[in-house]
Parts: sequence; structure tokens; C-alpha cells
Amino acid sequence: MKTGYMIDMDGVIYRENHLIDGAIDFVEALAASGTPFLFVTNNSAPTPEDLAVRLKHLGMPYLSPRHFYTSALNTADFLSETHPACTVFVIGEGGLLTALHEHRIANDGIHPSYVVVGEGGATTEKLAKAHECVERGARLLATNPDNWCPVSSDKTRPGAGALAAFLEASTGRRAYYLGKPNGYMFHQARRKLLEAARGALDQFVMIGDTMETDIRGAIEAGMQAFLVLSGSTQLQNVGDYVYQPTRILESVADIVEEIRTGKPSDRLDSPVFGNGNGPREKRHGNRFRTDHPSWDKPRPRPAMTK
Ligand SMILES: [Mg+2]
Repeated sequence: MKTGYMIDMDGVIYRENHLIDGAIDFVEALAASGTPFLFVTNNSAPTPEDLAVRLKHLGMPYLSPRHFYTSALNTADFLSETHPACTVFVIGEGGLLTALHEHRIANDGIHPSYVVVGEGGATTEKLAKAHECVERGARLLATNPDNWCPVSSDKTRPGAGALAAFLEASTGRRAYYLGKPNGYMFHQARRKLLEAARGALDQFVMIGDTMETDIRGAIEAGMQAFLVLSGSTQLQNVGDYVYQPTRILESVADIVEEIRTGKPSDRLDSPVFGNGNGPREKRHGNRFRTDHPSWDKPRPRPAMTK
């Protein structure tokens, strides 16, 4: 049975600027065994080239841009497939701007079809401009639903979800969120893996550390979902979710032997989990915009003066 792997990055391969133990062996085993794999990330700020360089500095020199699929690429794929002649006003960084440019999607600060919100790049002026564009009829699209993103073990930064929330509040319009767990992200990642394997894949596995994005999206897309405990999720919180991972691993180190030999490892689903070390404490507030049950109450309109 030939398997294609989608792999989240932060909390799975590295944390901050340190590789997680076993990550190099894991990726080398994938490469050596000819197993198709794709890094799938919600971070829309870097380009695939940036990510390849980052992992090169961390000790993985053999990765190329084709090994990465970001929510910025997903957004560009989505717009070029569903609305090829559209124009956009963008709040975001290089990865998003480059992806849209490569798909020949034009920037438009006057009457764009969409306001696209990604990671970073926001100023008060840009948010005000985006607000005006939505008021004039532009649709609101966010590259990913993350309200915040980890920077270090005790520090986070605002994510694309928080910027989209600003515009949702100011315009009264609901944003559409691409990236994980949106099924379009998994659909396109699966398509890329199939292309790389020339169609010869029997099953797909998503490996991630976040229940709300990696595991939820994979389950909803009908894929295997492996949760690693090397990132943001603690074992004692897994039972809180309706959707459950198909396997729980301490880290990607647990499946290196399985990938090398093709035989399941006896370290899978180990009962030694739950010793409480490693993962971050749960942070207050919903991490993802898609978790808000009812944000779309109509905004009271001001009395219009003409
Ligand atoms: Mg992660």
C-alpha cells in the first residue's frame, strides 16, 4: 500500500529555531524510501523558497520548493480556479504577494473583487483601505483562520484570523477562511502528492500537532490523521474533540522505522504518553476564527447621512 504524507511544520518538524528530535531521520527516511511527502503549512508569509532555505539552515539541505504547500499558494490556487479574472487588495507578506503574482492575479486598490488577508503586513492605513474596499463590495477572504501563531514557548503573534476579525467587525461581513482545516487545502495538497507520485497512491496521511486544523481537516477530507505530541496539543486534551486522530505519536521519530521498513512500528500509540512534559500550556481564547459559533450577527448600520 503506497502512502503519501502531508506534514505540518511548526510543532512537528521544528519548534522555534530548533528541529524536533528525529525530524531529520524522519524526512531522510521519506526521501530514501521514495515516499511522496509535502509540507503543508497555514503560514502565508513565506514563499516555498523561503521555507526550503529555512529547513536547509536547520539541517535539511535536500528539500526543494516543490516540497512545500502554504495557505498562500492555496489562496492563489482557489482564486485562479474559481474566479480567474478577479482582482485583489492584499494585506500580507512576500509569500502571499508572490503566489498571487505567479497566478497572474492583479492588485487593485480601487474596486477589487476580493480583499485578501494573510499573515503580517497590516498597517492602520491598509486596514482602512481594506475596509473601504469591502464596503464597496469586495468579498473578504483570509488565507488561514489562525488568530495567533506561536513565536516561542511563551510568546505568540497575531495571525491572519485576527486581522480578518478586525475587518469582520468593522464591515459586518464574514470572511471566508482558506488553509487548514478548509477541505480545499487538503484537496489541493492531495492533488500535488498524486502528481508527484504519478497517480500511484493508495492512501494519504496528515501528520500534525493541532487538533482544530491538522486533525480536523484530515478527518473531514477522509484521510488518516496522525497527531504528534511534540507541539501544541497535550494528550489529556485530545478527548475534548469530536474528531479524533487515527494515531497518536510522541513525535515523528516514532514512525521512522515504519517508513524505512514498510512495517508498522510497535512504538505507535504507546501508553507512555501523558507524562506532561513538552507541550505548551493551553492559551485563553479561541485560536481559530472558524471556532467562533456566531460571529456573523448583523452589524448595526449607522444612520446614513446624504
Ligand atoms: Mg503545527
